[in-house]
Amino acid sequence: MTQNRMTVKFWGVRGSIPAPLSPALVDQKMHRLMRAAFDAGVTAETLDAWLASQPRHATSTYGGNTSCVEVRAGGKLVILDMGTGLRELGNALMPEILKTGTFDATFLVSHVHWDHVQGHPFFAPIYLSNTKARGTMNFWGGVNWKTPLKNVLSNQMEVPKFPMEFKKVQQEGLAMKFHTVSDRQTIVIPTPEGEIKIICRRLNHPQETYGYRLEFGGASAVYSTDNENFAIPDPPLVELVSGADVWIQDCEYDRDEYEGRKGVPKLNWGHSEPNYVAAVGKKAQPDQIVTFHHNPDASDAHVASIAREVQTLSGIPTAAAYEGMTIAL
Ligand SMILES: [Zn+2]
Ligand SMILES: [Zn+2]
Repeated sequence: MTQNRMTVKFWGVRGSIPAPLSPALVDQKMHRLMRAAFDAGVTAETLDAWLASQPRHATSTYGGNTSCVEVRAGGKLVILDMGTGLRELGNALMPEILKTGTFDATFLVSHVHWDHVQGHPFFAPIYLSNTKARGTMNFWGGVNWKTPLKNVLSNQMEVPKFPMEFKKVQQEGLAMKFHTVSDRQTIVIPTPEGEIKIICRRLNHPQETYGYRLEFGGASAVYSTDNENFAIPDPPLVELVSGADVWIQDCEYDRDEYEGRKGVPKLNWGHSEPNYVAAVGKKAQPDQIVTFHHNPDASDAHVASIAREVQTLSGIPTAAAYEGMTIAL
């Protein structure tokens, strides 16, 4: 397989609302880790190797920002959703934008629940004056949204809810263009190395929500956040995921949480659990599954256990998404 035809990087992986690790949980995690290191007889010389052998949930965290994934292919930038992870992506992009004086990006928005749009007012490149940089941000959102994407972004930047008005940002900054997607639509982004093909499918969620399959140079990545098992396995989702190199999929709950044996039942809330993800995976056979849209109430250990369960049930290599996780295809 040729390396790096497409690169996927995660900037926000939580669902529903940002959930940063609290000071009490950091203290608890550090205490447990140090206790385990003492018990294992770790020395200064063996520390690095021992830390590397520990699971992520013990040494670090999956991250608290909401949905945002960066995809690079053929020199183009595609951003999947604009949750709070978009702020840090914007900060990371700024040095290069200031150096080159250009910025072009395609934003594929699944739907406009808060956790998928709240990062937009904190995305630094939108505040660049059009005299400092040139380029276009192309935003794609659902064709039948009661409030179109442009209005949603404008509404959330309305005084007194936000100090800077969208209209002013749009007038003085880089060009923002808005487009609509519908079920089975294909978006094509030309690049000097060939086309990026994006297939859009409507998913099962309380409001019109889209999953996207990105294909470039023989590599394929599917992003299907916020969807539930109204049919098992849901045929449009199976079709979208079929044979993909990587499938990024909502798996917010475990089965007990979903069916209400732990807490209130989550049926019809529009999110998935491991049995459903595994059923779709077995049918569609992606090379790997990345569980995503982690429950804000889930501990890091629970996030890890949900991914393990998907892997056990599906037989497909599965990992839980974390901020900074990068996959080269
Ligand atoms: Zn969501
Ligand atoms: Zn949602």
